[in-house]
Amino acid sequence: MPAYLGESAPALTEVASALCAHLDGILAHPGYAVGFGTGVLSWHAEVTSAAKTKPRRVSMQLRCPQRHLATLSRLEGEDRIECRNRSCGASRGGPVVLTVDEYHGLAAEVIAARGRRV
Ligand SMILES: [Zn+2]
Repeated sequence: MPAYLGESAPALTEVASALCAHLDGILAHPGYAVGFGTGVLSWHAEVTSAAKTKPRRVSMQLRCPQRHLATLSRLEGEDRIECRNRSCGASRGGPVVLTVDEYHGLAAEVIAARGRRV
């Protein structure tokens, strides 16, 4: 976990430490788990909205390997790349989803193919 910065750092560190110490017990308790989980999700949505810290969706340079459209993107912080074309992959059960490693492999193939055409 990264170190917290700013004037709220001591309070955040104390709260995070207490939650980490008791999280397994909270989640295992049938009377607390659901309320705790929904409370955290609600709090998270409120904080990200107020702080405008939602992750951005970044367009990728390579085209989707299925439809060859510039529709690949990645949500900051996630380790997968998705095609944003809703009709892409419909016959295969959903849009193209690549891991970062698969994307890099695809990029290497594209670069190699360009080298063969020159
Ligand atoms: Zn696609």
